[in-house]
Amino acid sequence: MSAGVEPVGPALPAARPLTAPPAFHVLAKPSGPICNLDCSYCFFLEKEALYPGDRFRMPDDVLATYIRQVVESQLAPEVTIAWQGGEPTLMGVDFFRRAVAYAEECAAGRQLHHTIQTNGTLLTDEWCEFLREKQFLVGISIDGPERVHDVYRVDKQARPTYARVRAGLDRLVDAGVDWNILCTVHHANQDVPLEVYRHFRDDLGADFIQFIPIVERVDEGRVELTDRSVDSRAWGEFLSAVFDEWVRRDVGRVFVQTFDAALASWYGTAPALCVFGETCGNAVALEHNGDLYSCDHFVDPEHLLGNITQTHMVELLAAKPQRDFGNAKRDTLPRQCRECPVLFACRGECPKNRVLTTADGEFGLNHLCAGYLHFFTHVDGLMRVMADSLRSGGTADAVMRVLASAGRNDPCPCGSGRKAKQCHG
Ligand code: SF4
Ligand code: SF4
Repeated sequence: MSAGVEPVGPALPAARPLTAPPAFHVLAKPSGPICNLDCSYCFFLEKEALYPGDRFRMPDDVLATYIRQVVESQLAPEVTIAWQGGEPTLMGVDFFRRAVAYAEECAAGRQLHHTIQTNGTLLTDEWCEFLREKQFLVGISIDGPERVHDVYRVDKQARPTYARVRAGLDRLVDAGVDWNILCTVHHANQDVPLEVYRHFRDDLGADFIQFIPIVERVDEGRVELTDRSVDSRAWGEFLSAVFDEWVRRDVGRVFVQTFDAALASWYGTAPALCVFGETCGNAVALEHNGDLYSCDHFVDPEHLLGNITQTHMVELLAAKPQRDFGNAKRDTLPRQCRECPVLFACRGECPKNRVLTTADGEFGLNHLCAGYLHFFTHVDGLMRVMADSLRSGGTADAVMRVLASAGRNDPCPCGSGRKAKQCHG
């Protein structure tokens, strides 16, 4: 590699395993779960226990092995190299300079995309210059305006962090770096969806937003959830309220990942979001020492697939444990899901969140079930309008014109049966 480190570890198998996915996503954690903050709901801080006494810094030989393998494993012409944590910026800019330089050496004509998810508090002008130059897409973790963000997103002295996140974001914006928002939805912001959404859109100027529900177990292995977890019904109402605002004025201008994924399902293609896919297993997590896990949400001994310095990651992805893991998302659905009218869009959501027992006594219903049933039912009429527009060669934003052209006393185009003025008018 450019830093003078030769890649170690196994070579790409001469014959690609038949069960290897053509493309997959790796979330790499170069500093493991280590973070400069101490967000109350963070599930990664407790992962320190997996590697007792470890310094949690990805060595250059693992870095080189990872970059080479992730690039050469993909059959697609574009490869995304994604960094996450803990807080990945703790590794320092030079680590990422080496990563990018080596990726460029390995690219062999493939187009590279670099992404990094950060709390934003350590971003300096030097960082921003590098991120802009290398065209990183930077995800900023922020949970809404100051008063709700600061409820759980605190530092190790329990001090609020909004001002520091905002300073980092302002630096990114000033430097012209591409960025987006990752907002977790939990007990403290679940009831103020429009305040949160408008803050991102109007105050921060965001045009791409991910909302992630916090479903946090009191203890691993137990199904009891913490008070910080989002209430299921509130999650559905949160998404519905944001959708109603978005669908009237922001389609095609602001991208909300959940809505994009839902539209894909109504349109009849596979959503890009794993939680709404029929199966999963093609989004793995890489720890700092080369250990590869089934998923970012299953970094535990049971889901350790192997180490990429010993077995090439394409073989670990193709092997039976990971294929079984991915298929289990579909194969373990309770009957309530299998017979659900919104199964095509929900797919029982993420197995991590399946902690409930159905009315007929089957374990494995998603904590967020009531919320998703509400949300997907709520958006059905307007998702159909958007999907129909796409099928006839138009664009999804046609839905805004349909809504605007409805008379105040006309039936609302969403199909609710109410007058437009009482609904989406
Ligand atoms: S376990 Fe959940 S988060 Fe992980 S890949 Fe499957 S659906 Fe996605
Ligand atoms: S809405 Fe509920 S029942 Fe329907 S697929 Fe989703 S989790 Fe299953």
